[in-house]
Amino acid sequence: MLAIVLMGPPGAGKGTHAKWMAEEYQIPHISTGDMFRAAMSSGSELGLKIKAIVDRGDLVDDDLTVALVRERLLQDDCKNGYLLDGFPRTLAQAEAFQEMGREIDRAPNLVLNLTCPDDVLLKRIGGRRVCPTCGASYNIHTMKPQKEGICDRCGSQLIQRKDDNPSSFEIRLRNYYASTEPLLDYYRRQGLLKEFDGTEAANNLKIELETLLASYR
Ligand code: AMP
Repeated sequence: MLAIVLMGPPGAGKGTHAKWMAEEYQIPHISTGDMFRAAMSSGSELGLKIKAIVDRGDLVDDDLTVALVRERLLQDDCKNGYLLDGFPRTLAQAEAFQEMGREIDRAPNLVLNLTCPDDVLLKRIGGRRVCPTCGASYNIHTMKPQKEGICDRCGSQLIQRKDDNPSSFEIRLRNYYASTEPLLDYYRRQGLLKEFDGTEAANNLKIELETLLASYR
């Protein structure tokens, strides 16, 4: 059983690796960022409420985020595992998740952390282009789509995320170090944490992750 929490700073490769892991191991990919972006583009009340926060790179309210994840984890497809990408991001979320995990029988059994230095993150974020339809992620320097500006998977026009600009990125990185990085110790103490070098070429890192994941199946 794979109940995974995927961690790492913005641009470390969480989305890229989450995509293939979810497909290969047939577990739902639950990205809180994707959930918030979907709410924002639907124009729902929730979307309007969080748009300014997400666009400037700040964190959405803990209670709201935890409630959203709880609802998603309760769905049937999470019974046999899941891959959480971008949650938890604060100690309050991690503690609520711990309690909820026990209560609804959805505790994680593995926390993966992708490490990456700030200068590499900044470069990656500047070149990142994403598919608004299927969520695939590309980079105009290192991971180009076959046809410029077009998603290889679904043919949609690629976009640049509004929060992938230098000032939002600075806030996201600051929030990461202040609120999210301390969670690594929290999970290390629980013996759940495995760390990987996010600067490695995606194909090599994939092989290393597959080797580890084979022992959890
Ligand atoms: P991501 O796609 O993971 O980079 O998330 C994009 C944005 O969504 C973040 O910068 C936050 O504004 C918001 N967000 C995603 N996950 C969380 C979370 N667990 N807690 C608070 N805000 C979040």
